[in-house]
Amino acid sequence: MSKIQMKTPLVEMDGDEMTRILWKWIKEKLILPFVDLKTEYYDLGLPERERTKDRITLDAANRAKELGVAVKCATITPNKQRVEEYNLSEMWKSPNGTIRAVLDGTVFRAPILLDSIRPIVRSWKKPITIARHAYGDVYRATEYRVPGAGKAELVFTGENGESFRETVFDFGACGGVLQAQYNRDDSIRSFAHSCFRYALDTRQDLWFSTKDTISKQYDQTFKLIFAELYENEYEKQFEDAGITYFYTLIDDAVARVIRSEGGFIWACKNYDGDVMSDMVSTAFGSLAMMTSVLVSPDGKFEYEAAHGTVTRHYYRYLKGEETSTNPMATIYAWSGALRKRGELDGLPDLVAFADALEGACMDTLNAGIMTKDLVSLVTPGTEAKAVNSESFLDEIAARLAARLAGAAS
Ligand code: NAP
Ligand code: MG
Repeated sequence: MSKIQMKTPLVEMDGDEMTRILWKWIKEKLILPFVDLKTEYYDLGLPERERTKDRITLDAANRAKELGVAVKCATITPNKQRVEEYNLSEMWKSPNGTIRAVLDGTVFRAPILLDSIRPIVRSWKKPITIARHAYGDVYRATEYRVPGAGKAELVFTGENGESFRETVFDFGACGGVLQAQYNRDDSIRSFAHSCFRYALDTRQDLWFSTKDTISKQYDQTFKLIFAELYENEYEKQFEDAGITYFYTLIDDAVARVIRSEGGFIWACKNYDGDVMSDMVSTAFGSLAMMTSVLVSPDGKFEYEAAHGTVTRHYYRYLKGEETSTNPMATIYAWSGALRKRGELDGLPDLVAFADALEGACMDTLNAGIMTKDLVSLVTPGTEAKAVNSESFLDEIAARLAARLAGAAS
């Protein structure tokens, strides 16, 4: 069988720990035997970030901006303990933060659904994709404790000398807390573009929610920017695609989401997205089954798993113990990136390969062959056998070969 050809290379960003091991196996077993893989390889593993003073991350992000499609392995975000463990000269920034800053993108997270794992919310039948505006608000707030009596004011000093001042609160003797948040019109605008584009790209309805009835300037700004872009640029395209844009208050959205069947994108402000994505992923089953894609406002895509480097499993692997780490979200990062490359380059065989790869994963899971984390989640009575990561990938590879041979004959 001749291998499937590519045109433009993917930007491949390798990572750390257990996911780095899975990365190598996925390529060896599921991709290289079938695809004449073209990638530009960037090693974002922590040792290489240290060696290059994190230049490698910036280079990879810039290249992703040029080539348009990237696939990324999970990476360590260093903390104090990691600085010691890896003998780092600096506490390098989160690679995802760096990449997001370069692409100016929004992260969309969606679960991979399986018939034998029922969501905790019984009405959910299709995935719910959460889009989080990962910029500003409480994550970049200025705050402090107010020690005692006094007046808090919000002051803006314009470059042109114009200034505003408003009393926030007159504190009594016992003091309290104080916080100032901000966001930028251009960031909200980019977020809105990414959401509208991704809805069109995946042909799903888009929901957006804030608390504009209470926050009459701040949240209202989000609502108005979305409404303006929708009317001026996207309404016609949404109608043609048969999808809708729907704005509602965050509390109303929560109630509707729980009663819904799923199958839409829920755009959230930064904090709402942080909280709701954990709720939605847990209700759907497992973080190991959560996919993630960063979409820039001008249509560049970076695919990855939502989970981290699975450190606990890696330490067991280093001791020579068997691990049953779930590679599903990382495989879907590859299939997502290859499919997108195929679509952009007009390569139907590559798109079909991505479909076959995901299909082979489903065949394997539906045959009751899965990693340990999933066995405990399947509905009672379903036959399920836990295998180690490598055997799981071998089982998928066999089914993938069968699917591709079937399609070729
Ligand atoms: P994690 O790697 O997601 O793992 C947390 C726990 O969740 C694991 O110990 C495991 O539970 C379970 N789990 C996650 N993914 C799994 C999978 N594929 N298969 C089976 N079980 C899975 O989160 P963490 O331990 O908090 O973070 C580890 C490192 O990852 C950190 O250095 C962090 O900076 C980094 N991180 C990177 C990204 C990213 O690159 N996007 C995201 C998050 C975290 P059991 O041990 O109970 O089996
Ligand atoms: Mg969170």
